Order: sequence, then structure tokens, then C-alpha cells
Amino acid sequence: MSEFNKQTKLLSTTKEDIQTAAKIIKNGGLVCLPTETVYGLGANALNGEAVLNIFKAKGRANDNPLIVHIAKFDDIKPLVKSVSEKAKILAQKFWPGPLTMIFEKSSLIPDEVTCKMDTVAIRMPSHKVARAIIEESGLPIAAPSANISGGVSPVTAEHCYADLKGRVDAVVDGGECEVGLESTVILMVGDKPRLLRPGFVTAEQISEQIGEIIIDDAILNPLKKGQQVLSPGMKYKHYSPSAKVIIIDADDEKYYSYVNQSQGEDVFALCYDEDVEHINKKCLTLGKHFDNESAANRLFYNLHQFDLMGAKVVFARLPKTDGVGLAVVNRLLRSAGFEVIKL
Ligand code: AMP
Ligand code: MG
Repeated sequence: MSEFNKQTKLLSTTKEDIQTAAKIIKNGGLVCLPTETVYGLGANALNGEAVLNIFKAKGRANDNPLIVHIAKFDDIKPLVKSVSEKAKILAQKFWPGPLTMIFEKSSLIPDEVTCKMDTVAIRMPSHKVARAIIEESGLPIAAPSANISGGVSPVTAEHCYADLKGRVDAVVDGGECEVGLESTVILMVGDKPRLLRPGFVTAEQISEQIGEIIIDDAILNPLKKGQQVLSPGMKYKHYSPSAKVIIIDADDEKYYSYVNQSQGEDVFALCYDEDVEHINKKCLTLGKHFDNESAANRLFYNLHQFDLMGAKVVFARLPKTDGVGLAVVNRLLRSAGFEVIKL
């Protein structure tokens, strides 16, 4: 018999259901919960066995560490060795919110969370349901994105349920995630802070607060053979829908003519609102022309939609990399397996 035969409860965001979700966490179970970034697959971060079940449910590689979620600043103290002045400034400015910081870990954090690394990633989400579940459980919650590894991150409860039904104890439905992309990850250990994963909190906003930061090379480039990675998540296939995504780096006219002359019923376009009238294929849009915040919000949602619509090939426009665009392009490149056609 499959080990994935749990009765997955569907919970709402009533007080009673939040108490039920918190109880499951306290008892070592798994709960999919809404956050402002994407849905998380949460377990008690202080219980190694519960955390191990996250890896099993997702099919996650056992060297890809998890982010620990807290509800208030003081919760961080027992989890890390120290919090630098720069980290305090960032926490003050961006917490609660979509920023994850990496610190040297304390002995309270089990090896299962960090995959035996001596650092731990911590975030304080702003979503009121995520915060209520953390507070009600009285525990830090380890939570990666609530999807089978390799697929597109979930931004609705339906996305979680479709992927993880039978594998988790409950899914809490808090509606669609506001940001729609995972958090910004920054390493706060070492000489200079280093951006490991771009997100809604941008490199520019961080630099404004704490000065120069290093932008990790792996953000926009595929790894070279044998290259060491500081964030293990960067080396894995990621965010892939069933459809084949191909990025087109071109001006308006060249993009339209390339997409219009391509053959096939199941060819779709991922473009901007203003492009739709020029394209003879079915389109989903990232919002107004090169609006990065709206693109961040629509990207994963639309990748899920393409699969529901039976798309085989998706020709995506390449967004700009300023501000939140860096996060959008980082995810889109991985969805496309770095396949970019430059016209
Ligand atoms: P996800 O849980 O899917 O949002 O992925 C979490 C990301 O944070 C992955 O890319 C991890 O590799 C990264 N991460 C978590 N903990 C650490 C850590 N201690 N050091 C470096 N990267 C980390
Ligand atoms: Mg993920």
C-alpha cells in the first residue's frame, strides 16, 4: 500500500480551523498553509521526524534545506547564534514580509531542517493566517513550497490539494497568495550579505538599507559543471509545468511574428495585456507591458493555468530584470530549463 494514503482535511480560516491546523503541527503532522509568497508545506521545525516527512511528501532532495517561519522578532533568538546589526535593520524594515535571512543556527534546530548545514534560513511571514497558525501552535514552522519538488509553486489551495492530496494531513484555504513568488533569500553570514534568491523584496531595496550586497551568479545563469552552490535549491530542476516553456527575447514585432507563424493547436503565449490583440494564439498575460510586480503575481498562477488548459508549448516574453523583474526572470528561466530564443 502507498504510504501516501492520508485523509487530507480541507480547512478554512475560521478560528476553529486554525486551531485544528495548529494542533496537527503540534502533533507532528503536515499542513499546507497560505503565506503572502506561495503556499507552504509546514511542520514543527523543532521536530526532526516531522520535518523529514516534509521531504518525503514533496519528494524533495535531502540536501535542500528548509525555511523556518516565525511570528515575532523575539522568536528568532533561540534559533540562531546571533543577529548582526545589518540583519536587524533588514528585519525592522521588511519583517513581517517576503524576506528570508540566513544565520548561523543554534543547537535547537534539528539537522533535518538544515540538511546538516550550520546555517538556518528564517522568515517572518505577513499573511495573517500563517501568523495565526504559528502563534496558535507556539512553534517555529519549517515550510518549503507546498508542491511536489520540481513543479510550479502553489499559489492557491487548489494547487496544493492537486499535488499533495493523501500526502499531507490538511490544506488551509486562505485564497490566492498576494505576492505569488517565493521569498527573497539573503545570506547574512560572512563578509558581505549575498543575495541567493531574488524575490518581491528587491536587491535595490535591500542595498538602500544596508549598502552593497553581492548578487549570486547562480540567479540568472545555469550552473556550470562542478560549480559549488551556496543555496542548494539552485541546482535543482524547478518550477516546471507539464507544458514546454520557451522564452523569446525579442522586441514586440519580432515576438508577434515568431509566435504567430508557429504551428500547432496547443501553442500558447505568455505575454502582456497590450500584446494580446497582435497574437493569433491563446494568451495568458503577466499584466500591463513590463509591469514587474504584476508579472510576479501572475507567473506561477498562469503556469498552472497553462497545464489546466492542455498547453504543450508556451512562448513566454522575457521580462526586464530590474526590481522584482529579477525574481520573475529567475523563476521563468528555470521553468524554461534556461531555453531562450534571442531574435
Ligand atoms: P523553498 O523551500 O522551495 O522556498 O526553498 C528554500 C530555498 O532556501 C532553497 O533554495 C534553499 O536552498 C534555500 N535555503 C534554505 N536554507 C538555507 C541555508 N541554510 N543556506 C543556504 N540556502 C538555504
Ligand atoms: Mg519550492
